[in-house]
Amino acid sequence: MKNISIKVKITMWYLLLMAIMVIMALGFIFAVSSSVVTQTAMNRISSTVRGNLSQIDFIDGKLSLSEDFHFYQNGIYTLVYSKNEALLAGQIPVNFTENEGFENGLTRIVSTEDDEYYVMDLWRPFDWENGVWVRGLMEVPQDQMMLKNLITVIGIAMPAFILIATIGGYWIAKRAFKPLEDIISTAKSINEASDLSARIEIPNGNNEFTRLAKTFDEMFNRLEKSFEAEKQFTSDASHELRTPISVIKSACEYGLKYDETAEERQETLSMIQRQSDKMSGIVSQLLNMTRLEQGTEKASFVKTDIGLFVKSICDEQTDDKNIIFNAEENIMASVDKTMILRLIQNLIDNAAKYGSKDGHIWVTVSADEKNALISVKDDGIGIDKSEQSKIWQRFYQVDSSRSAASGSGLGLSIVKKIAEIHKGYMTLESEPFKGSNFTFHLPKEK
Ligand code: ADP
Repeated sequence: MKNISIKVKITMWYLLLMAIMVIMALGFIFAVSSSVVTQTAMNRISSTVRGNLSQIDFIDGKLSLSEDFHFYQNGIYTLVYSKNEALLAGQIPVNFTENEGFENGLTRIVSTEDDEYYVMDLWRPFDWENGVWVRGLMEVPQDQMMLKNLITVIGIAMPAFILIATIGGYWIAKRAFKPLEDIISTAKSINEASDLSARIEIPNGNNEFTRLAKTFDEMFNRLEKSFEAEKQFTSDASHELRTPISVIKSACEYGLKYDETAEERQETLSMIQRQSDKMSGIVSQLLNMTRLEQGTEKASFVKTDIGLFVKSICDEQTDDKNIIFNAEENIMASVDKTMILRLIQNLIDNAAKYGSKDGHIWVTVSADEKNALISVKDDGIGIDKSEQSKIWQRFYQVDSSRSAASGSGLGLSIVKKIAEIHKGYMTLESEPFKGSNFTFHLPKEK
């Protein structure tokens, strides 16, 4: 039963239900029609016997039957018995019992060995003492004949009916289950061809199947996104890690071959250390980025006093960064603190990296009508207008010789992503050799 498809199960269920209904209806028709037949037969026997009764007379002490008396008419036998129940006239049907007692005026069914008879007796009195019994006999119509006909009809009609019902039911069930078949074949094609871009795309509607299809499409979207992110991660990671690895490799080869003094070895080792630091930075930024993009790192928003929070971040920075902090009071917003810390830290690190040697970093918290504004400003090298839209892309570095030392080109794409997760956005004002001002516009709360 478990392996039978739902379509077949539904079809079978309705078929069974219909068969029960048909049998019940036939039973009812049969019961009603046989009661009608009985009633008609009883009326017939009664009117025939009564008709014959009026044709009996007793003239001069003798029984006299008129010409209109019929011993056999319309399948009804009429018999005349004496008061002592001795047959006076008429012929008893062969298989009717001879000693059936008399009951005046009552029509009843008497069963004999092979047959059943309707029997009706009427007493025809001639005077106070004498009279005759008039008995009507009628074979109970062979209901079997009717039943036989009925069974023949049903025997022919039922299989045809079942066949039509099965085909129709199966066809309807198949149509109803079509969306499910689509879902199965799409899921199969995705599985077999590894084609994550395929979608079920069931047309409008809000039934169980369309909802299931939508859920599947959403799941495929997510799967495709995370699959793409993983692919991107692998290719980015291998591409970005190739440079420091090859630097480390050649430094090792060179050091092993040519380094003789402790000083030379020291220099090679520091280069290896710098490249390892860079690699570990790239790997952790890549992980951050991928987690944010895949949504595996879920934001947990907490209503926060932004001024106080940003101040606490600035307080933890090293003194050499020369931070000048300024904040308006009571600016509230819902933020994921870990993410915002990462955003501000990235901006401060960049401001320090690309700032002038003894320059300053201004961190300011203010607000406009809608947003809290967190800006990190430096007086460093600035960014050319033509580069300003590109720096948000993954791995984009304006001057790779300057940033290559420690950067991965991922910091600002992470910043942008975190701003989006907070339903905010980043803006940049920058001029080469004057400095840059990065501002995070974060929807504020009351
Ligand atoms: P990186 O790890 O290279 O710093 P980011 O994504 O943080 O990567 O920054 C991308 C590029 O944008 C940097 O390589 C740099 O050229 C430029 N940039 C970022 N911040 C500043 C800044 N404050 N001043 C000047 N240039 C900047």
